[in-house]
Amino acid sequence: MEYKVEENLEDVSRCLQCGCVIDYGGRPDRKFCSAGCKNRYHNYRRFRRRDVAQKSIFGRLEKNYEILENIIHLGLKGMDRVTLAYMGFDPAYATSYYRLGRKNIYTCFDIRYELTASRIKAVSLMETGESISI
Ligand SMILES: [Zn+2]
Repeated sequence: MEYKVEENLEDVSRCLQCGCVIDYGGRPDRKFCSAGCKNRYHNYRRFRRRDVAQKSIFGRLEKNYEILENIIHLGLKGMDRVTLAYMGFDPAYATSYYRLGRKNIYTCFDIRYELTASRIKAVSLMETGESISI
């Protein structure tokens, strides 16, 4: 008994979202079976990109926090930026920034510090409920 193959599976286009065979009523290069599948596909990809970006940013903040916490636990008030960089501190990531006179003051969650061209200074834990604004 012979079976006739109705369609060559490699020639069939399938919806990128749900995988069903695309009915070629419209353009021959369609990637989705419906507008709903197209929207779901793009929304999910956008969500994934944002999720990955947020995890990356949060990871860097957590790393910075860990380093700042260690500086406090060691009883230090500051450290040179070369050592900081070696430890993995990334000055581009902070939870707030403001200027106090000529000082550049940053916070990483509840730790406040001053950053100069060569050092991190005045690393301290903020008081509970203390406002970071001036
Ligand atoms: Zn679909």
